[in-house]
Amino acid sequence: MNNVKRALLASALALLSLPVMADAAHPKIGFSIDDLRLERWSRDRDYFVAAAEKMDAKVFVQSADANEQKQISQIENLISRGVDVIVIVPFNATVLTNAVAEAKKAGIKVVSYDRLILNADIDAYISFDNEKVGEMQASGVLNAAPKGNYFLLGGAPTDNNAKVLREGQMKVLQPAIDKGDIKIVGQQWVKEWNPTEALSIVENALTRNDNKIDGIVASNDATAGGAIQALAAQQLAGKVPISGQDADLAAVKRVIAGTQTMTVYKPLKLIASEAAKLSVQLARNEKPAYSSQYDNGSKKVDTILLTPTPLTKDNIDLLEQDGFYTKAQIAGQ
Ligand code: BGC
Repeated sequence: MNNVKRALLASALALLSLPVMADAAHPKIGFSIDDLRLERWSRDRDYFVAAAEKMDAKVFVQSADANEQKQISQIENLISRGVDVIVIVPFNATVLTNAVAEAKKAGIKVVSYDRLILNADIDAYISFDNEKVGEMQASGVLNAAPKGNYFLLGGAPTDNNAKVLREGQMKVLQPAIDKGDIKIVGQQWVKEWNPTEALSIVENALTRNDNKIDGIVASNDATAGGAIQALAAQQLAGKVPISGQDADLAAVKRVIAGTQTMTVYKPLKLIASEAAKLSVQLARNEKPAYSSQYDNGSKKVDTILLTPTPLTKDNIDLLEQDGFYTKAQIAGQ
């Protein structure tokens, strides 16, 4: 069918209020993202759309702006547009069971992107190996502070990744706790991964412990940024080892300046283009190459897990070599 005929058929079906028939050559993909206001997710969007369009797919993007109700209605809207696949970065992992069930009833494939949707009949999950990320964060801090008082700054309680990161962190920390080398003096989850909330949590932790904190295992760069502000107010920035992840530009500058010990690089172009490929394959009823399975509480979900890379001052140049940032971006004020 040529483009003109397809358009005519689509508008005729629209007049009859019938869903447009799936067109395997030109799949339609809905991308429902937790929050496009954050640098990380808007980069994912750009890479995803570019990769999908190269495969002749059309992408409809929606940002839920960190609002679970908004995300549910946006998914419903994508269902009524008759997309073939919906790719979701969930704000809240546990509230999408019904929305996913509706999509499946309409014959739409559902992919969980970066964060796992729990208790729902999703078709696939793609992410970086978050347990490994957690291990890298804990090892990074432990190498720099092999003994002393530790504070654990967790991610958003609504994000399954936060829990998986903590499991990875504890795998590395537990032996040091058992030996008596380190002591966890506090731990808290940071609502919505919010840097301001992280700042006040660490401020309070420092006060409660008379500033005697020797290491902070922070679960991403945004929250590490808040924590480092709290450390700076006590002249402790650069003295207390602290982790992160994402290689956010601000964090990369902090790693170079020595106020953040490490970050974890997750090439966003890779996850976005692999997710686009996976979505198009599902739309075309082809079999994607999964690397593992992950239990989401309702089923074993076919999963693709990509490999993260820890970055310290010593190998931060990798970002430039990989085209993640330019030299000028890293050097900029
Ligand atoms: C992602 C991190 C990100 C965080 C906050 C997590 O689910 O894996 O890369 O920093 O969400 O957006």
